[in-house]
Amino acid sequence: MMKSPPANPQSTAQKQFLTILSREEALARFEDALFPRPVPVEERELSEALGFALAQDVTAPGDVPPFDRSNVDGFAVRAADLAAASELHPVRLRLNAETIACGHSPQLSVLPGTATAIATGGPLPRGADAIVMVEHTQPVEAGDIEVGRAVSPGQFVSGAGSDIARGEVVLRAGAIIGAREIGMLAACGTARVKVASKLRVAVLSTGDELVQPGKPLRPAGIYDANGPIICAAVTENGGEADFLGAFADDEARLEKAMRQALASHDVLVLSGGTSKGAGDVSYRIIERLGKPGIIAHGVALKPGKPLCLAVCDGKPVVILPGFPTSAMFTFHDMVVPVLRRMAGLPPRVDAQLDAQLPLRVASELGRTEFVMVSLVQGRDGLAAYATGKGSGAITSFTQADGFVRIEALSDHLPAGSKVPVTLFTPQLRVPDLVVIGSHCTGLDLVMSQLSRQGISVRSLAVGSLGGLAAAKRGECDLAPIHLFDPKTQTYNAPFLGEGLELVSGWRRMQGLVFRPGDARFERRSVEQAVQAALADPECLMVNRNQGAGTRILIDQLLGSARPDGYWNQPRSHNAVAAAVVQNRADWGVTIEPVARAAGLGFIPLMQEHYDFALVSQRGERPAVLAFLAALRSPDMEQALQRAGFSRSPDDE
Ligand code: AMP
Ligand code: MG
Repeated sequence: MMKSPPANPQSTAQKQFLTILSREEALARFEDALFPRPVPVEERELSEALGFALAQDVTAPGDVPPFDRSNVDGFAVRAADLAAASELHPVRLRLNAETIACGHSPQLSVLPGTATAIATGGPLPRGADAIVMVEHTQPVEAGDIEVGRAVSPGQFVSGAGSDIARGEVVLRAGAIIGAREIGMLAACGTARVKVASKLRVAVLSTGDELVQPGKPLRPAGIYDANGPIICAAVTENGGEADFLGAFADDEARLEKAMRQALASHDVLVLSGGTSKGAGDVSYRIIERLGKPGIIAHGVALKPGKPLCLAVCDGKPVVILPGFPTSAMFTFHDMVVPVLRRMAGLPPRVDAQLDAQLPLRVASELGRTEFVMVSLVQGRDGLAAYATGKGSGAITSFTQADGFVRIEALSDHLPAGSKVPVTLFTPQLRVPDLVVIGSHCTGLDLVMSQLSRQGISVRSLAVGSLGGLAAAKRGECDLAPIHLFDPKTQTYNAPFLGEGLELVSGWRRMQGLVFRPGDARFERRSVEQAVQAALADPECLMVNRNQGAGTRILIDQLLGSARPDGYWNQPRSHNAVAAAVVQNRADWGVTIEPVARAAGLGFIPLMQEHYDFALVSQRGERPAVLAFLAALRSPDMEQALQRAGFSRSPDDE
């Protein structure tokens, strides 16, 4: 369904900025509207309690062990009988006519001068006060034993209640029940425990564009990432997520779905449609769902400003921003604390590490900003690289180790700042090999081979120049680069500084791409193709960003011409191919593997050299040697060739 744009975009935008609250203020108001409230409690069998939080302290109903118990196989004795025993003068004891096994109560007393055979775990008989190990005794005739050493009272005996004493608090409310807790409860004889009920959280995505993963993507469609992300995050935080699907921005249908969801769940979490634009309807519906309604709409967070927090008749209703990274951050920062408190769970504790920022990080004044970072080992401590590609990027998540929070009052963090990094995972594993620079799908082939050898690798795509800078700072082992020097007409070598050496990588054929069958380009030389393109006023090009090696080639091809599309300057080979495939442009320049994968026509132009600047000092590290070996292996040569790269320096 098509919607008309807002009649007056100005007023719509203003409406959105009037009510921005600080992060702290929004959170405080949200909590005030929800708490205090009792934590919902249920009783569960131990076997069904895994992962739940205890709702109350558990005290031991009895002693563990319940009786004095032998820790070894041996004989129950009176220590006083053996006070004078030694190797030279062993003491003889008469054996009582029973053997105490586990689970059997002793029948006979151990009288002075006697002993009773006892197994590990057996209950101590009346009269005995210590155990002699069987190894320290000798059987003698007539069912007697000789003991060649003295024992102290209590030797090898665990007293009743020595592990857990009756009435002792063994587990506290809020403890998450894992295998160890279950063991503890079972040992105390507890079969049922009172736990906090899991919150039932309804999750719902909104947007005309959304397609569920697994289904074919239609034109202008976007896969629903938020649904799965939020469900997983709810589960990770002890809730029970119920995904209700993605709904089009249709007010009536969405309202019905939201009402139903709220009736059968404790919490409702939506994503998308929170801006106050024409297609954004969810926040309007909230006002009709219950009191007090919207608590905060617009929070000074980055990413995540459009976050909407509401409470409808005691139940939280949240609309997360549409961009997945924004949705994730706002959910963790603003919603998780509330959900955990509602569910009687302890606050989340994320691991933190200190790291240094190699580069200045700009931040918007007035908004609490979350910047995702990748950590690498620098010369003195960890270095944190910002990985964000803007709030629309999802890859940042998988490449990042954690995030840095920049407070609202700060407009930047200078290069060299020491910052606490909150980790996404409980522990950080510093990779064996770090590669920072320009990215290439060929590099993935080499890195995958290293991974299969058990070497942990990390590659950060910051462009060739960024890679060289990182290499000079000693933050990586290798910097992949493809920099063309027009003066010397050579690649890469002129750009190396002191302490760096060139490792030759592979070549990527650059060429002109077009949709197959386009007569302006089919079976033409590059010169003819460019001429045909320039001659046709309808023909639209796609360029590359300033600084890209490909851009230098394009400018050489065009001379002084500035055809339509010149100002469309995407930053990657793939974006060029996508523009041509999707008919947003008719031609552009990209590398052959990308052109092939996209099914485009390709006219070869020039080979680009993709090499590595190796930090000389690191050349002997095992992971670097493994990288070089992998790079040079015949297998890799073939794999690179299959992927459209060539190792042979045939254009020198
Ligand atoms: P909205 O807040 O609805 O204006 O959405 C902002 C951006 O997030 C748009 O680019 C949406 O396509 C995108 N978006 C919204 N919901 C989702 C979702 N569930 N998964 C992935 N992207 C989404
Ligand atoms: Mg939307």
